[in-house]
Amino acid sequence: MRRFVDCHTHLLLGGRTLTQLDLSKVSSRGEFEAAIAAEHARLPKSAWLEAHGWNEGRWGGERPTRDWLLGAGDRPVVAYRMDQHACVVNDAVRSLLRDAIAPAGGEIVLDDRGERTGLMLEQAAWQLVNPLVPAPSVESKRDSLRAACAHAASLGLEAVCSMEYLADAIEVFDPLRAELPIRIAITLLDRGDDFDPSKAFLVRHDDRLWVNGFKSFADGTLGSRTARMLENYSDDPGNRGMLVERALDGTLSEWARAVIDAGLSPSVHAIGDEALRVTLDAIEPVDPQRTTRFEHAQTIHPDDVPRLRGRLVSMQPLHRAFDREPARTRLGAHRMNRFFPFRALLDHGAILGFGSDWPIVDLDPRKGLEQATRPRGASAGGAAAPAADPAPEWCSLTNDEALAAYGTNAPRFLGAPSSMRAASNAGAAPSARAERSSS
Ligand SMILES: [Zn+2]
Repeated sequence: MRRFVDCHTHLLLGGRTLTQLDLSKVSSRGEFEAAIAAEHARLPKSAWLEAHGWNEGRWGGERPTRDWLLGAGDRPVVAYRMDQHACVVNDAVRSLLRDAIAPAGGEIVLDDRGERTGLMLEQAAWQLVNPLVPAPSVESKRDSLRAACAHAASLGLEAVCSMEYLADAIEVFDPLRAELPIRIAITLLDRGDDFDPSKAFLVRHDDRLWVNGFKSFADGTLGSRTARMLENYSDDPGNRGMLVERALDGTLSEWARAVIDAGLSPSVHAIGDEALRVTLDAIEPVDPQRTTRFEHAQTIHPDDVPRLRGRLVSMQPLHRAFDREPARTRLGAHRMNRFFPFRALLDHGAILGFGSDWPIVDLDPRKGLEQATRPRGASAGGAAAPAADPAPEWCSLTNDEALAAYGTNAPRFLGAPSSMRAASNAGAAPSARAERSSS
């Protein structure tokens, strides 16, 4: 079997979805309700019922409400949409929410009478519902990680980069390093004020498991129109999305320098073309060795493509497939040449590393490979054939080019643990890093 590498996963989150009720095959309200009732019967008395994967596109578009969850009685139920950007909760959860109001960037969906339907969108799901769901124990997180790694290995993956929190890296990943069937580079999620790059070395670094860097967010997503664009969204006049975190407060450059000085790789989530430009402006002065990973890079202004020469661009071919139709509306036809310009990036000497972003999309690298190499205009599995794609920048890759992004390029994205150990032993001298040769 061919061996692949995935440059962007969320293993712990993904492993957890493997043990939740999977609604991705459900194609009617009746099946949805039956699945909820069966899971309720199976679970121990005090457990929450957690489900994921529903997609109203499979049954005609009506979104589920609390009425679809009655089969679980008084047990708290939360069921996430396939993209994790929406969930539906039942009355047991609604009562815990009391009269919470929707945070910015979120919506509590109401019916015609002004009653809450149980459907929670974006930040309402993340900020109001998620904190209520009981945190899994360390032991159950370890089970999730074992399941995630077995799943990855079964798909031919030999190594992945996973975005995780420090506490999980120490308590969940580190003790299992010897038994896991894949090699794992952890990129630590940095969302707090107490940033200290030396914490990366609280996790032992060896060839099975190591920390390769830290991740920061420059903006949101295209689907929620929070990715920061140079021009307004075509379907939302006056809105260009938003910069967030360090890209907003101007500390991105300083943060990246600290990460690089520790011998590690900064990773920056940038989906909008302005977010990517702001990130490049911050990174270029502090990263001459080009170890920063530009995550997603879903839209790139043509002027910025040459700036990515020799730089690491971490992209997800299946996101291109799923976001293409929304992108046509959000960006308009005139900007589709900025959307996943694989061909232009390679022609300008960027280094592509592919991944999935599992569990947001399928972990199977073959599906990403198929997407990345699909001829222009060909239809995705089951989806309607798209209109002709407008720009050569957007063109598909050859099989060898796509395989390199899932394999031979990947060590640069995952980082070499031996060189990182050397860097940490040498007092984090950046000159100890092995990867010098990028130009
Ligand atoms: Zn991700």
